[in-house]
Amino acid sequence: RVKQEGRNGFNLYNPDMNKDAQRALALGTRLRSAINNDELELYYQPIVDLSTDKIVGAEALMRWRDEEFGAVSPEEFIPIAEKNGLIHRIGELAISKACMQAAEWQQISPIHLSVNISSVQFRYCEQLYAQIRHALLKSGLDPELLDIEVTESLLFNHNEEVLQLLSRLQSMGIKLTIDDFGTGYSALSYLQKFPFDRLKIDRSFLQQIENKSEDRELVNAILAMAKALKLEVVAEGIESQKHVDYLKGKRCEFGQGYFYSKPVPASEFEQLLHEVVAA
Ligand code: C2E
Ligand code: MG
Ligand code: MG
Ligand code: MG
Repeated sequence: RVKQEGRNGFNLYNPDMNKDAQRALALGTRLRSAINNDELELYYQPIVDLSTDKIVGAEALMRWRDEEFGAVSPEEFIPIAEKNGLIHRIGELAISKACMQAAEWQQISPIHLSVNISSVQFRYCEQLYAQIRHALLKSGLDPELLDIEVTESLLFNHNEEVLQLLSRLQSMGIKLTIDDFGTGYSALSYLQKFPFDRLKIDRSFLQQIENKSEDRELVNAILAMAKALKLEVVAEGIESQKHVDYLKGKRCEFGQGYFYSKPVPASEFEQLLHEVVAA
């Protein structure tokens, strides 16, 4: 076969690419049955008020453990789901489960809930709107407590319909967050044009904050800009007391990271909430 391809002058066969494509295809198939068998699970990571050290929110993050492939990272399966269309079902699961969970937790503490929504889900604005509305009605969660996280890629490929949906969600009371800020096509004009309430500084900026002065300056600049635009700020990827001290010194309001807690199953998150209330 290889010989034949050579004779025709084509040799598109790339063993590595083939392996990646095969894995993606297999994962896609497994993912579909995982959804059907209700095997995806949401983990929750605390969002902390840096001035009080109290948990004020939770970000819902999808977890998948496959029998054959083991734990597959969302960094790998979300892009696959975005390509094969499963993201619409995953998104619906995430929003409905997370809203139910957050509504239940209100009895312990008045926390916010953050859910990631892929740009691909915005290709069907009406469907997305219906999913969100249904999740809120069914759970009874106050829309003011729901926070939707989108990335800059949504703004880059946006259309009028997306802008309308965002405004519509915001007028219901839902909070809009721009996630991974600083890693995409950030443009100041987008921040003004879109109705955001919050901005999440990508964790890559914090990683080098101790030894790279440029990264410190970037964090400072983002904080100043957010303040000017009246956006709340959440710093992602807080891993040390040094990170906390730096951010507090710069009046960053909220934070999230392994220093406080990794994403944990719902039962463990509930324990954390009880501890906070007891403290
Ligand atoms: P994200 O929304 O930016 O979520 C934050 C990621 O940073 C999570 O990775 C979290 O575990 C990780 N993280 C938090 N604190 C730290 C820290 O201190 N250090 C380090 N090194 N990492 C930290 P995770 O859970 O692997 O998720 C990766 C991405 O997958 C998410 O990034 C999000 O873009 C996507 N994702 C996860 N669940 C969903 C979902 O339900 N729907 C959609 N559309 N995307 C999802
Ligand atoms: Mg996020
Ligand atoms: Mg992020
Ligand atoms: Mg991310």
